[in-house]
Amino acid sequence: LRRGGLVAFPTETVYGLGADALDAEAVERIYTAKGRPPTNPVIVHVPDTSMARTLTASWPANAEALAQTFWPGPLTLVLPKADAVPDIVTAGRATVALRVPAHPIALALLRVAALPVAAPSANISTNLSPTTAEHVMRGLDGRIDLVIDGGPTTGGIESTVVDLTGTQPTVLRPGLIGADALSRALGAPVAQPSVTTAVNKAASAPGQHQRHYSPRTPLTLAEDDGSSTVQAFAQEGMRVAWIRFADAADRNKQATDPISSTDNASLATVETHNSIQPNGNVLIRWLPLDPTACAAALYALLHDLDDLGLGRIVMAQPPIGDDWRAISDRLQRAAAT
Ligand code: AMP
Ligand code: MG
Repeated sequence: LRRGGLVAFPTETVYGLGADALDAEAVERIYTAKGRPPTNPVIVHVPDTSMARTLTASWPANAEALAQTFWPGPLTLVLPKADAVPDIVTAGRATVALRVPAHPIALALLRVAALPVAAPSANISTNLSPTTAEHVMRGLDGRIDLVIDGGPTTGGIESTVVDLTGTQPTVLRPGLIGADALSRALGAPVAQPSVTTAVNKAASAPGQHQRHYSPRTPLTLAEDDGSSTVQAFAQEGMRVAWIRFADAADRNKQATDPISSTDNASLATVETHNSIQPNGNVLIRWLPLDPTACAAALYALLHDLDDLGLGRIVMAQPPIGDDWRAISDRLQRAAAT
């Protein structure tokens, strides 16, 4: 990192691709390796609040309150930037996004390097974020210097991004820390656009392009459990993965039901399931009916399905509600064309 190299490392959300945040040429290499548009700013990772403060032009009371409550953790704060932060890090904006990650390897790396480390997710731009070192290598092998293998990440989706530079704190990207938790910590309301508004209004936050976090296999997000969508694709002769939600007890029950096999090795031909016709080659996968567990499993499942060369992934509509907001956001982006 001190020589200007690119090092991928685990955080508690996803794997990041790091470079010295104060070295514009090093950060430029991140954009080149990822094919990231120069308009999309990167998050700077720091070992503690005191280094964060050195990268800001001001440190308001609400930044201090959120840092004390949630750092180290999956929360990114957008604040006025210090002059020392190169323009390439912030995509020319006057603000910088900062976070202290909670992963022990990430923290150890930041402490040993003693540098602020600019680190977007360690994947080719718009692709799925990596939750294992193997995912990183699949996308970036030959383009980066090193990946530190810390095993699968536990959070699974990217950090919550909150902008503290406006009149009211505003969530720019939903994540595992919800707006209500932020409001409680601040004792004041935090604004957040509805997921559909945020996804459709691609310009609402820099880099929040509509299509993002996508598998290579086209993904359809159903408005219901997805069965009729699966049936339609299967009838066209397509091999389809059908992702559904169930709680642990239900999944155990389903596992003993041959019709909705959870066989993880091969494509199961579904004989009759509701309206699914026998001519379809349909693989069924389950995600936990719990937002935290679902986030941890989501990208790894999509990476695995992507390797099967299927014609389509059909995803059941996730439950509605604040707890599911970040998952809905990622799924709508994954499904955007
Ligand atoms: P990642 O790709 O996980 O590094 O996330 C970077 C995202 O953080 C960007 O796509 C933006 O949505 C957000 N972000 C980073 N820097 C800023 C900034 N200065 N102002 C607003 N949002 C930012
Ligand atoms: Mg990313």
